[in-house]
Amino acid sequence: DTFEALGIKDPLLTHLDEKMRIKKPTSIQKLVIPTLIASPRNNNDLFIHAQTGSGKTLAYLLPILTSILNMDAHIDRKSGAFALIVAPTRELASQIYSVASMLANCCHYLVPCLLIGGERKKSEKARLRKGCNFIIGTPGRILDHLENTKVIRDQMGNSLRYLVLDEGDKLMELGFEQTINDILKIIHEIPINTQKFPKLPSRIINVLCSATVKGGVTKLGDI
Ligand code: AMP
Repeated sequence: DTFEALGIKDPLLTHLDEKMRIKKPTSIQKLVIPTLIASPRNNNDLFIHAQTGSGKTLAYLLPILTSILNMDAHIDRKSGAFALIVAPTRELASQIYSVASMLANCCHYLVPCLLIGGERKKSEKARLRKGCNFIIGTPGRILDHLENTKVIRDQMGNSLRYLVLDEGDKLMELGFEQTINDILKIIHEIPINTQKFPKLPSRIINVLCSATVKGGVTKLGDI
Protein backbone atom coordinates (compact mmCIF):
# COMPACT_ATOMS: atom_id res chain seq x y z
CA ASP A 1 0.00 0.00 0.00
CA THR A 2 2.81 2.44 -0.74
CA PHE A 3 3.85 4.41 -3.80
CA GLU A 4 7.26 2.79 -3.52
CA ALA A 5 5.73 -0.68 -3.91
CA LEU A 6 4.02 0.56 -7.08
CA GLY A 7 7.36 1.51 -8.62
CA ILE A 8 7.65 5.22 -7.76
CA LYS A 9 11.24 6.14 -6.90
CA ASP A 10 13.19 9.10 -5.56
CA PRO A 11 13.28 12.04 -6.05
CA LEU A 12 9.58 11.73 -6.91
CA LEU A 13 8.77 9.52 -3.91
CA THR A 14 10.16 11.90 -1.28
CA HIS A 15 8.67 14.89 -3.06
CA LEU A 16 5.21 13.29 -3.04
CA ASP A 17 5.46 12.48 0.66
CA GLU A 18 7.13 15.59 2.02
CA LYS A 19 6.17 18.40 -0.34
CA MET A 20 2.76 17.28 -1.56
CA ARG A 21 1.76 15.36 1.60
CA ILE A 22 0.42 12.49 -0.46
CA LYS A 23 1.05 9.37 1.55
CA LYS A 24 -0.98 6.45 0.27
CA PRO A 25 -2.12 5.55 -3.23
CA THR A 26 -5.85 5.54 -4.00
CA SER A 27 -7.36 2.38 -5.47
CA ILE A 28 -7.26 3.72 -9.04
CA GLN A 29 -3.58 4.66 -8.54
CA LYS A 30 -2.83 1.12 -7.33
CA LEU A 31 -4.29 -0.25 -10.55
CA VAL A 32 -2.95 2.27 -13.03
CA ILE A 33 0.57 3.12 -11.82
CA PRO A 34 2.22 -0.33 -12.24
CA THR A 35 0.41 -0.91 -15.54
CA LEU A 36 1.51 2.37 -17.05
CA ILE A 37 5.06 2.12 -15.66
CA ALA A 38 5.29 -1.15 -17.62
CA SER A 39 4.36 0.62 -20.88
CA PRO A 40 7.93 0.79 -22.25
CA ARG A 41 7.98 -3.02 -22.10
CA ASN A 42 4.48 -3.90 -23.30
CA ASN A 43 3.39 -0.83 -25.31
CA ASN A 44 -0.18 -1.27 -24.02
CA ASP A 45 -2.83 1.43 -24.32
CA LEU A 46 -4.89 2.07 -21.21
CA PHE A 47 -8.50 2.88 -20.41
CA ILE A 48 -8.94 4.43 -16.95
CA HIS A 49 -12.51 4.17 -15.75
CA ALA A 50 -12.55 6.73 -12.93
CA GLN A 51 -14.46 9.70 -11.57
CA THR A 52 -13.02 13.11 -10.72
CA GLY A 53 -11.79 12.95 -7.13
CA SER A 54 -10.47 9.40 -7.47
CA GLY A 55 -6.89 10.53 -7.93
CA LYS A 56 -6.81 9.78 -11.67
CA THR A 57 -4.57 12.76 -12.51
CA LEU A 58 -1.68 11.46 -10.40
CA ALA A 59 -2.54 7.93 -11.55
CA TYR A 60 -1.34 8.80 -15.06
CA LEU A 61 1.12 11.65 -14.32
CA LEU A 62 3.23 9.70 -11.79
CA PRO A 63 4.04 6.75 -14.09
CA ILE A 64 4.68 9.00 -17.09
CA LEU A 65 7.14 11.03 -15.03
CA THR A 66 8.65 7.82 -13.65
CA SER A 67 9.30 6.42 -17.12
CA ILE A 68 11.09 9.68 -18.01
CA LEU A 69 13.19 9.53 -14.81
CA ASN A 70 13.87 5.82 -15.31
CA MET A 71 15.81 6.63 -18.46
CA ASP A 72 18.69 7.96 -16.35
CA ALA A 73 19.40 10.26 -19.25
CA HIS A 74 20.12 13.96 -19.20
CA ILE A 75 16.68 15.49 -19.74
CA ASP A 76 15.77 19.15 -19.71
CA ARG A 77 13.06 21.36 -21.18
CA LYS A 78 14.84 21.23 -24.53
CA SER A 79 14.67 17.43 -24.71
CA GLY A 80 11.15 17.62 -26.09
CA ALA A 81 7.56 16.97 -25.06
CA PHE A 82 6.98 13.44 -23.79
CA ALA A 83 3.26 13.70 -23.07
CA LEU A 84 0.28 15.51 -24.56
CA ILE A 85 -2.70 15.74 -22.22
CA VAL A 86 -6.04 16.87 -23.65
CA ALA A 87 -8.84 17.99 -21.30
CA PRO A 88 -12.37 19.16 -22.16
CA THR A 89 -12.38 22.46 -20.24
CA ARG A 90 -9.94 25.24 -19.36
CA GLU A 91 -10.62 24.59 -15.67
CA LEU A 92 -9.68 20.93 -15.88
CA ALA A 93 -6.63 21.65 -18.05
CA SER A 94 -5.48 24.27 -15.51
CA GLN A 95 -5.96 21.80 -12.64
CA ILE A 96 -3.92 19.14 -14.42
CA TYR A 97 -1.26 21.75 -15.18
CA SER A 98 -1.00 22.74 -11.53
CA VAL A 99 -0.60 19.09 -10.46
CA ALA A 100 2.02 18.59 -13.20
CA SER A 101 3.84 21.76 -12.05
CA MET A 102 3.92 20.55 -8.45
CA LEU A 103 5.26 17.18 -9.53
CA ALA A 104 7.81 18.70 -11.88
CA ASN A 105 9.14 20.71 -8.92
CA CYS A 106 10.83 17.50 -7.80
CA CYS A 107 13.09 17.77 -10.81
CA HIS A 108 13.57 21.39 -11.76
CA TYR A 109 14.75 20.56 -15.23
CA LEU A 110 11.28 19.29 -16.25
CA VAL A 111 8.74 21.84 -17.46
CA PRO A 112 5.01 21.59 -18.22
CA CYS A 113 3.18 23.95 -20.56
CA LEU A 114 -0.50 24.95 -20.64
CA LEU A 115 -2.34 25.67 -23.92
CA ILE A 116 -5.90 26.89 -23.45
CA GLY A 117 -8.29 29.15 -25.30
CA GLY A 118 -8.48 32.64 -23.84
CA GLU A 119 -4.74 32.86 -23.25
CA ARG A 120 -2.63 34.91 -25.61
CA LYS A 121 -1.40 32.63 -28.34
CA LYS A 122 1.78 34.61 -28.69
CA SER A 123 2.88 33.94 -25.12
CA GLU A 124 2.00 30.25 -25.52
CA LYS A 125 4.18 30.16 -28.63
CA ALA A 126 7.04 31.79 -26.74
CA ARG A 127 6.77 29.17 -24.00
CA LEU A 128 6.69 26.37 -26.57
CA ARG A 129 9.78 27.82 -28.18
CA LYS A 130 11.64 27.73 -24.83
CA GLY A 131 10.80 24.04 -24.61
CA CYS A 132 8.58 21.93 -22.37
CA ASN A 133 8.17 18.29 -21.44
CA PHE A 134 4.41 18.02 -20.83
CA ILE A 135 1.84 19.78 -22.96
CA ILE A 136 -1.57 20.15 -21.31
CA GLY A 137 -4.51 21.90 -22.92
CA THR A 138 -7.97 22.08 -24.43
CA PRO A 139 -8.72 20.47 -27.82
CA GLY A 140 -9.31 23.58 -29.96
CA ARG A 141 -6.19 25.41 -28.83
CA ILE A 142 -4.00 22.33 -29.10
CA LEU A 143 -5.20 21.69 -32.66
CA ASP A 144 -4.70 25.37 -33.52
CA HIS A 145 -1.04 25.16 -32.43
CA LEU A 146 -0.52 21.79 -34.13
CA GLU A 147 -1.76 23.29 -37.40
CA ASN A 148 -0.14 26.70 -37.15
CA THR A 149 2.84 26.62 -34.78
CA LYS A 150 5.70 24.68 -36.29
CA VAL A 151 7.65 24.65 -33.03
CA ILE A 152 5.05 22.45 -31.27
CA ARG A 153 5.57 19.68 -33.82
CA ASP A 154 9.34 20.10 -33.49
CA GLN A 155 8.95 19.72 -29.71
CA MET A 156 7.13 16.42 -30.14
CA GLY A 157 9.22 14.81 -32.86
CA ASN A 158 11.39 12.02 -31.33
CA SER A 159 10.05 12.47 -27.79
CA LEU A 160 6.24 12.19 -27.72
CA ARG A 161 5.19 8.85 -26.22
CA TYR A 162 2.03 9.47 -24.20
CA LEU A 163 -1.29 10.86 -25.33
CA VAL A 164 -3.84 11.30 -22.54
CA LEU A 165 -7.49 12.10 -23.25
CA ASP A 166 -8.87 13.13 -19.86
CA GLU A 167 -12.61 13.06 -19.15
CA GLY A 168 -13.26 11.38 -22.50
CA ASP A 169 -17.02 11.30 -21.85
CA LYS A 170 -17.04 15.08 -21.45
CA LEU A 171 -14.88 15.55 -24.56
CA MET A 172 -17.59 13.71 -26.52
CA GLU A 173 -20.46 15.51 -24.78
CA LEU A 174 -18.97 18.88 -25.67
CA GLY A 175 -18.64 17.87 -29.33
CA PHE A 176 -14.86 17.51 -29.59
CA GLU A 177 -14.86 14.22 -31.51
CA GLN A 178 -13.72 15.72 -34.82
CA THR A 179 -11.13 17.97 -33.13
CA ILE A 180 -9.69 14.96 -31.27
CA ASN A 181 -9.63 12.99 -34.53
CA ASP A 182 -7.70 15.81 -36.20
CA ILE A 183 -5.25 16.06 -33.26
CA LEU A 184 -4.62 12.31 -33.35
CA LYS A 185 -4.07 12.32 -37.09
CA ILE A 186 -1.36 14.99 -36.80
CA ILE A 187 0.24 13.41 -33.73
CA HIS A 188 0.49 9.99 -35.29
CA GLU A 189 2.06 11.40 -38.43
CA ILE A 190 4.96 12.85 -36.44
CA PRO A 191 7.89 10.47 -36.93
CA ILE A 192 9.31 8.86 -33.78
CA ASN A 193 13.02 8.23 -33.50
CA THR A 194 13.11 5.36 -31.02
CA GLN A 195 16.91 5.46 -30.88
CA LYS A 196 16.91 8.83 -29.19
CA PHE A 197 14.95 7.55 -26.15
CA PRO A 198 15.28 3.76 -26.31
CA LYS A 199 13.91 3.20 -22.80
CA LEU A 200 10.59 4.84 -23.60
CA PRO A 201 7.74 2.99 -25.35
CA SER A 202 8.45 2.47 -29.05
CA ARG A 203 5.18 4.14 -30.05
CA ILE A 204 2.69 6.63 -28.64
CA ILE A 205 0.74 5.07 -25.74
CA ASN A 206 -2.90 6.20 -25.67
CA VAL A 207 -4.47 6.74 -22.25
CA LEU A 208 -8.22 7.39 -22.15
CA CYS A 209 -9.90 8.47 -18.90
CA SER A 210 -13.65 8.49 -18.51
CA ALA A 211 -16.21 8.35 -15.71
CA THR A 212 -18.64 6.52 -17.98
CA VAL A 213 -18.32 4.07 -20.85
CA LYS A 214 -21.46 5.19 -22.66
CA GLY A 215 -22.42 8.12 -24.88
CA GLY A 216 -19.87 7.71 -27.62
CA VAL A 217 -16.77 7.56 -25.46
CA THR A 218 -16.16 4.05 -26.82
CA LYS A 219 -15.58 5.72 -30.19
CA LEU A 220 -12.59 7.53 -28.69
CA GLY A 221 -11.30 4.11 -27.68
CA ASP A 222 -11.38 3.07 -31.33
CA ILE A 223 -9.29 5.98 -32.55
P1 AMP B 1 -8.26 13.88 -9.23
O1 AMP B 1 -9.23 12.75 -9.12
O2 AMP B 1 -7.06 13.54 -9.99
O3 AMP B 1 -8.93 15.14 -9.71
O4 AMP B 1 -7.72 14.20 -7.73
C1 AMP B 1 -8.56 14.66 -6.72
C2 AMP B 1 -7.80 15.20 -5.52
O5 AMP B 1 -7.22 14.16 -4.76
C3 AMP B 1 -6.65 16.14 -5.86
O6 AMP B 1 -6.75 17.27 -5.03
C4 AMP B 1 -5.39 15.36 -5.51
O7 AMP B 1 -4.34 16.19 -5.06
C5 AMP B 1 -5.85 14.45 -4.42
N1 AMP B 1 -5.13 13.17 -4.39
C6 AMP B 1 -4.77 12.42 -5.46
N2 AMP B 1 -4.17 11.30 -5.07
C7 AMP B 1 -4.15 11.31 -3.72
C8 AMP B 1 -3.66 10.41 -2.73
N3 AMP B 1 -3.06 9.26 -3.06
N4 AMP B 1 -3.79 10.75 -1.42
C9 AMP B 1 -4.39 11.90 -1.09
N5 AMP B 1 -4.88 12.80 -1.96
C10 AMP B 1 -4.77 12.51 -3.27
